[in-house]
Amino acid sequence: MRCQVCDELEAHHKCRVCGRVVCDLDFNKELNVCRVCEATLCQVCRSRLAVGHCVNCARTVCRVDSVRFGLGRLCIECAAAFGVLRR
Ligand SMILES: [Zn+2]
Ligand SMILES: [Zn+2]
Ligand SMILES: [Zn+2]
Ligand SMILES: [Zn+2]
Repeated sequence: MRCQVCDELEAHHKCRVCGRVVCDLDFNKELNVCRVCEATLCQVCRSRLAVGHCVNCARTVCRVDSVRFGLGRLCIECAAAFGVLRR
């Protein structure tokens, strides 16, 4: 079966997020996700899909690892640094 991302190479892996089968080059073995999904994952936990960006460090963050901050979000680390972490 061909890779469903590049459509060039043989697919050897299955993405745990979208279920696409992808080749070695389009797969992140540590995270078990394809390259497309890797870009949409939370950069804090690396397991849930991101819902936005931290307004301070610009990392993508999921709902669990971020808190509302004004009109945007802060990742939990920046929130802790700013002293606005929800208890
Ligand atoms: Zn590929
Ligand atoms: Zn995927
Ligand atoms: Zn997360
Ligand atoms: Zn941050």
